[in-house]
Amino acid sequence: MGLLSFALPRRRDGCLLYVSDRGLAHLVLTRRGFGAITFGHVIVASVEPTPAVWRHELRHVAQYERLGLSFLPLYLWYRARYGYLDHPLERDASEDPRLFS
Ligand SMILES: [Zn+2]
Repeated sequence: MGLLSFALPRRRDGCLLYVSDRGLAHLVLTRRGFGAITFGHVIVASVEPTPAVWRHELRHVAQYERLGLSFLPLYLWYRARYGYLDHPLERDASEDPRLFS
């Protein structure tokens, strides 16, 4: 996804950040109404992340570290069951208390 954003990544807080307004990543992000998406330690954003967005995405990185490869199927299952606003991983990334410390 990062490579298909046609942007050069840069390191930030132990992650690779791609910021791109073109490519597959931008298409997926804008179609889904998201500003950024996280895959492990790779964060792809359609615009430079604000501090709040960056904190949110870093929380998803922490979730990936805890859940490993089960993150994606669990994320999709929660998404189908709860939608976005009540999604436990999104709520965890957006507010306290945390699921993981
Ligand atoms: Zn999120």
